[in-house]
Amino acid sequence: MNHEKLSKRLKRVSDHVPFGARVGDIGSDHAYLAVYLVQSGKCPFVVAGEVNKGPLSSAKAHICSNGLTDKINAKLGNGLEVLENEDINTVVIAGMGGPLITTILEEGKERLDLVERLVLQPNVAADHIRRWLMGNNWDLIDEEILEEDGHVYEILVAEKGSGLSPYEKKDLEKQLWLGPYLLKNKNTAFEKKWKRERQQIEKINQQLAFSGKNELLKEKKQQLSLKMTWLEEEL
Ligand code: SAM
Repeated sequence: MNHEKLSKRLKRVSDHVPFGARVGDIGSDHAYLAVYLVQSGKCPFVVAGEVNKGPLSSAKAHICSNGLTDKINAKLGNGLEVLENEDINTVVIAGMGGPLITTILEEGKERLDLVERLVLQPNVAADHIRRWLMGNNWDLIDEEILEEDGHVYEILVAEKGSGLSPYEKKDLEKQLWLGPYLLKNKNTAFEKKWKRERQQIEKINQQLAFSGKNELLKEKKQQLSLKMTWLEEEL
């Protein structure tokens, strides 16, 4: 593969994979990341997992055309089940929504016993993942936010049980939503993402202004108003 073709997003994901790691790339699609990790000499072995046959065929073709069938095992399977009988210490799940990544982690958590690092790249709703990590003894050790072709992506990196927490005691919900590291190092991608979100919330607020007054709506309005306060504080 021509390394120039790897997206900026996947390159940044690859930067969080430790040198020499044996990687499970879950939802590998064309296996671009897997091929890059092996071809660049960073990783000796990758399992490229796919739940859908179409993307799995693309992955196999790409792996084969790069002569890497002995170093990348493309497997059909749902989520972490492809890690069965594989000696993997790093798991990557990239390019999906936060809720789907969280479901994959939750449904396959018994297969994470030997895994030391998670590199997760949600396209939306990263707060679901932060919450899951916190509830399952995975420490968030780093975060990144970047923009590519008008889209903003977050990358979350976690390791098991160091006992170190990036969260301050005050405003935990706000940190789970916006990201504890991202809040401390705000960049233009962060500003862009959350300014857009603020506009969305303003629109919803305007619509809700003309709606009824039942308890659910009241709660929704309170949540939105809290989020607006957080965004006003940070932008
Ligand atoms: N990881 C690549 C990336 O970041 O560019 C591909 C992202 S692509 C948008 C998501 C891929 O995940 C699709 O190929 C889809 O078939 C696969 N996928 C979705 N749910 C999955 C699951 N539960 N287990 C394995 N693969 C899954």
